Amino acid sequence: MAQPFSTRLRVLTALPLEIDPDEVLRFQGYKKAVDRPGPEVLALLDEALALGRALIAPRAVVRWLGVSRLGAGTIETGGVVLTIPSVDRLWGPIEWLAAAVCTIGDELERRVAELWEARELPLAAMLDSVGSGAVESLAEYVNDLFCQEAIPLGLPVTNRVSPGYGSWDVRQQTALFAICPGDPIGVGLNEACFMTPVKSISLLAAAGARAKVDHYFSQCARCWMRDCAYRRTPARKSVHRKPSSPPSRE
Ligand code: SF4
Repeated sequence: MAQPFSTRLRVLTALPLEIDPDEVLRFQGYKKAVDRPGPEVLALLDEALALGRALIAPRAVVRWLGVSRLGAGTIETGGVVLTIPSVDRLWGPIEWLAAAVCTIGDELERRVAELWEARELPLAAMLDSVGSGAVESLAEYVNDLFCQEAIPLGLPVTNRVSPGYGSWDVRQQTALFAICPGDPIGVGLNEACFMTPVKSISLLAAAGARAKVDHYFSQCARCWMRDCAYRRTPARKSVHRKPSSPPSRE
């Protein structure tokens, strides 16, 4: 039987990423639909978004791998055993694993450091949140890409998980990097298993004919795939920038 996915490492660059302003405000402590930022905060957000868009260089390294064994909280693939608590319960039966390392580069964090040095504290803090929102939007973008590749093959894609979040041990970064190294996009791991540049996210998702997809409502809400037969909710906004229009705050 033909393999549905190529298992080679792919490097994605110059991604047309749209930063979700709600993500940025979330990093500023605003709760969506509860807190309404005032005009001064919105003006600062606009300034930081404009600055951030010029400084980010969204890129990702991605790879599909066949799952060779699925155990209670373990996934074996590519000669590596990943230990992710309750993953079998959360994802259900899966056949393919999608791994990715994403980054926006280090220019933005250098500019944030300069702004702190110059005591431009509100802009420094907002720009740092723009960086955090941008890399979250990028992880969402990559998750959507995986879904868009698998859905036409009749393989639903699970939600994403990252080492260090929830109950997944950050030390599992080394196992994730063993199957999907960050070097091609300049992302490294330090001794504590944290990534540099700081605004980077590593992630895993999975696909399978009977994989659990209860999370699709939030995933579909920002996905730009038109006429997707699996879509559960209309696209509310997109993390994919339209080529014809300049980036805008929605
Ligand atoms: S619309 Fe939803 S189901 Fe379809 S590809 Fe996008 S995220 Fe996946």
